[in-house]
Amino acid sequence: MKHDVDSTDPVAIARSLLTCPSITPHEGGALDYLGTLLSDAGFEVHRVPFSDDNTPDIDNLYARIGSGSPHICFAGHTDVVPVGDEADWTHPPFGGVIADDILHGRGAVDMKGGIAAYAAAALNHLREHGLEKGSLSFLITGDEEGPAINGTIKLLQWVHDRGERFDMCLVGEPTNPETIGDAIKIGRRGSQNGAIRILGKQGHVAYPDRAINPMRGLAKALTSLFDEPLDQGTDHFQPSNLEIVSIDTGNTTFNVIPSEVRATFNVRYNDLWTPEAIEDWISAKLSSALPDGTGFDIRMEPALSRVFLTRDETLIGNLSAAIEDVTGHKPALSTGGGTSDARFIRNYCPVVEFGLVGQTMHQTDECVPVADLQKLTLIYAAFIRRSLNTDL
Ligand SMILES: [Zn+2]
Repeated sequence: MKHDVDSTDPVAIARSLLTCPSITPHEGGALDYLGTLLSDAGFEVHRVPFSDDNTPDIDNLYARIGSGSPHICFAGHTDVVPVGDEADWTHPPFGGVIADDILHGRGAVDMKGGIAAYAAAALNHLREHGLEKGSLSFLITGDEEGPAINGTIKLLQWVHDRGERFDMCLVGEPTNPETIGDAIKIGRRGSQNGAIRILGKQGHVAYPDRAINPMRGLAKALTSLFDEPLDQGTDHFQPSNLEIVSIDTGNTTFNVIPSEVRATFNVRYNDLWTPEAIEDWISAKLSSALPDGTGFDIRMEPALSRVFLTRDETLIGNLSAAIEDVTGHKPALSTGGGTSDARFIRNYCPVVEFGLVGQTMHQTDECVPVADLQKLTLIYAAFIRRSLNTDL
């Protein structure tokens, strides 16, 4: 581990983090390194391990400097996804190699690079301006790419139980589609899993009049579910969408009409919907589509990622202005893509997401241009200055 690097150089910090093999659930030295970096700069650093049945133990980190408000939290994760076949990588995935001004390694964009940029921005801010008011904190989990049981959810509760409150949170996930500054994520669609069961009556295929084949009902049900979209989209969200992802009768024979068929689905939904409203919509569709006498039921999985939209004008305004300071362009306000830990943080404070360009995340040869790291650091620094109202 390298502790002799310039603590305000994002490239040096990112290289140190990238040399830690922190594949979930292993801490890999990444939290040790970050903890030392932050405590050397005056942060109060806590290592917060959590465990639970049937999931690996996970180490997490919470660090704060200052005690007043505004309390600005930066959230992220040091764990990374596996590297696949290491031989496929041009440079070793945990080597921290820079070639042609591009830094290579697993986690370069998702999201050790983002953490390095924010740490550099924060430490540089403290060195140049001190902390006249407010607080800065880091909420870093080692379980974002894994089951996410022993990470952000529990760490947020732990901080809350200590009586600490966040005024705003910035998640440093790689959110930009093409170039740094394209987009801030101000919300996420909800994601809801479930299963539809259509009930028939078992029988011999040679005597269909004595049976009810649930597949006939299923065909009508699917047509009605796909017939029209759930909605046309809203100001901040694309249209909601239902996808059937599997169909199964459990039947292994050719001469039996099965008694039931089960179709599982996922719905990505916008701010017009709740899981309850989605269930009602599916139920109404099936009721009108299925032939008389064909029963059905719907089972909704626990709603783990509900839709959310952050409307906090100070947070969005400060980040947008910081991006414009550095790039000269206003970012788009986006809600696209999958879910993230922001869905848990939104229960505690306004949250937005902004980080590196995500194109190589989870891929072989994940990498980040050094120029991107430097630009993101400048944006984060401007965000911290604006949020703490530091005289420029
Ligand atoms: Zn990530």
